[in-house]
Amino acid sequence: MNVDTCIKQSFASTSSYAPHYPQSCDEALGEALFSTQAYNAWRMLDPGPALPIFSRFAALPALTKRDLRTRGPQGFVPHDHDIAKGLTTHEIELGTTSGATGDQVTNVWYQPWWNASEAASWQLNAHARTVATGVHREAILTSPWCAGFPCEYGYLTMEQRTLGRFLYLSERFDPSSWNSDLMDRMVNELNTFRPVVLEANPSFLARLSRHIVRRRMRVHSPALIVLTYENPSVLHRRQISRAFDAPIASSYGATEAGYVFMECEAGRLHQVTASCHVDFLPFGPEHGGPDVGRILVTIFDNPWRSLLRFDIGDVVRLDGHAPCPCGRHEGLVLKSVEGRTVHLTSTSEGRAVTQGTVDHALGSVSGLVEYQILQVGLSAYHLRFVAEGVASRSVAGAASEALQEVYGVEAAITADPVEAIAPDPPGKYCLTRMLDPIDPHELLDDKYAPRIP
Ligand SMILES: [Zn+2]
Repeated sequence: MNVDTCIKQSFASTSSYAPHYPQSCDEALGEALFSTQAYNAWRMLDPGPALPIFSRFAALPALTKRDLRTRGPQGFVPHDHDIAKGLTTHEIELGTTSGATGDQVTNVWYQPWWNASEAASWQLNAHARTVATGVHREAILTSPWCAGFPCEYGYLTMEQRTLGRFLYLSERFDPSSWNSDLMDRMVNELNTFRPVVLEANPSFLARLSRHIVRRRMRVHSPALIVLTYENPSVLHRRQISRAFDAPIASSYGATEAGYVFMECEAGRLHQVTASCHVDFLPFGPEHGGPDVGRILVTIFDNPWRSLLRFDIGDVVRLDGHAPCPCGRHEGLVLKSVEGRTVHLTSTSEGRAVTQGTVDHALGSVSGLVEYQILQVGLSAYHLRFVAEGVASRSVAGAASEALQEVYGVEAAITADPVEAIAPDPPGKYCLTRMLDPIDPHELLDDKYAPRIP
């Protein structure tokens, strides 16, 4: 087969980058193809240096989590580095991602690279740039199974949950089981510790925020709230901003890929071009393309990890191509991260619907504070929801109407009020999903779809 016939279009060639950026991409590609065992089979797919770098990327497959599992951590370590030696000298650690059991990946963790990637992301938000110094006090509210000190029976002292400049506010992974005393403790600790930055899983902080507003408590507002670990819902952000008088920025990345996008002070998400390259793969027009699509991430300058075109598993929406008011213009700019590909649902005609689309539609339903939608059939949807301050029946009616707008008049929607909704282990909320999930590869515009190896 002529390799030219396999070359797909690259969206990256439409973005603007700093002059040295193509060189960083070139080095990442060279290290993967010629110095890293996991990519041996990809070498013959590379059309070679006669083509522009982004076209060379576009000729290659996507790297999946399954690849990371089957090749193991050593498969992605460049030839001049050795895991056993790195562990002996404590230069690196091995860490397992906290996904569902079948989804766990062992990663080589090299802290200096992670720190550099995080510091680069701070440059993309005016507030973070000012207050995040790398030595600032930081409180963290997320599942302790993702970061911190888990303890599901009994409680830990503040001292036991403090590590250097970090305070982990919860030792429990399920906010639906938090009692008032535990949330009062979190507020007291925020008032004592007075963090400069509060980094939080948005659904966790939303739960605490509702408690603060309901009890009319006084709480220390940090200089910046950074939302991470899961995709924030419109409802979460609104609940948080009612309790805290602080700017909010969403930070997007992954354990495998570091910091990939950071929300600027104008509300758009800018690519962290200092530490990664992002290939955008638009969906076909019938599924929301060309502004909605998937992303593949390539990382730069990690001596212990070569990651090329990694399918991070999320769907994003481009910013509409108008310049961002903040003035930053390098790399891919997003209006939003729309949620995981496993959280896609569909209309009865089979059009893909992102979690972001559903969330936007439900964002204006008065009294709705939490929800979860399960698509149980071609045009059948089951909504579980938590209402506050408004009668459940009214909330159910308004939410069903909003969902009908999204899924169409054929949609059969059932709605049940519940006391609370628990996250999936290890502590991440799922807002929408299907019993029989869509294959996201089939949604792609074929001109950009990566080849199957
Ligand atoms: Zn901006």
